[in-house]
Amino acid sequence: MYEIAVIGAGPAGASAALFAAKAGKATLLIDNDKGMTRRGWYENYYGISEIGGPELVETGHKQAVKFGAKLVADQATSISKNGEGFTIQTESGGTYEAKHVILATGALTDLAAQSGVTTKDGTEPRIKTVVAVDAAGKTNIEGIWAAGTVAGVSVHAIITAGDGAKVAVNVISELNGARYVDHDVLKA
Ligand SMILES: Cc1cc2nc3c(=O)[nH]c(=O)nc-3n(C[C@H](O)[C@H](O)[C@H](O)COP(=O)(O)OP(=O)(O)OC[C@H]3O[C@@H](n4cnc5c(N)ncnc54)[C@H](O)[C@@H]3O)c2cc1C
Repeated sequence: MYEIAVIGAGPAGASAALFAAKAGKATLLIDNDKGMTRRGWYENYYGISEIGGPELVETGHKQAVKFGAKLVADQATSISKNGEGFTIQTESGGTYEAKHVILATGALTDLAAQSGVTTKDGTEPRIKTVVAVDAAGKTNIEGIWAAGTVAGVSVHAIITAGDGAKVAVNVISELNGARYVDHDVLKA
């Protein structure tokens, strides 16, 4: 069983998966490559002068995989409660089990709604519906979290990436039973 499964590998999901995997958690990242990030050109991402969407997405995937996340190219079709965790099924017939699930599905809330996760009206331009979350990123179902555009944050890459990281840190902290920080120190 994975400790953390992330559905969607845009900035929110890949950032969450990178933090989760780097923390040593068994991490699954499922993505069907239909997100909005590839279509953008970014000049407002702190620390990066300018970058195209495809490079931003692919670098994020490489970072998550580098730390041990398992990246699966597929579409998640259902999430159902299974004992201590959840079973995730995919379009190609895959079945995965995870203790925690982070929804990072961008503009899409269909999977959330089908899985019994409460949605609400969005506030951001062109985002009609979002998942209802608390400040930590928790949904109405214990163990299912949401991050990024689908969780209703401002539709900017650095904000969605930051929200994915935030939610992952909260999940890791819950798994560890103590607040988690990931600080590497500059090598001399
Ligand atoms: C044309 C355009 C230009 C933009 N320009 C800028 C800009 O200049 N600056 C800026 O800050 N922001 C810009 N943005 C916004 C920015 O791209 C988004 O805010 C941000 O990248 C969204 O990240 P996300 O991870 O929330 O969603 P997404 O990047 O959409 O990622 C969601 C992922 O979930 C996957 N997914 C969804 N459902 C499933 C499922 N059931 N199973 C598996 N995978 C699933 C999708 O395929 C996708 O990969 C632009 C957006 C567009 C469209």
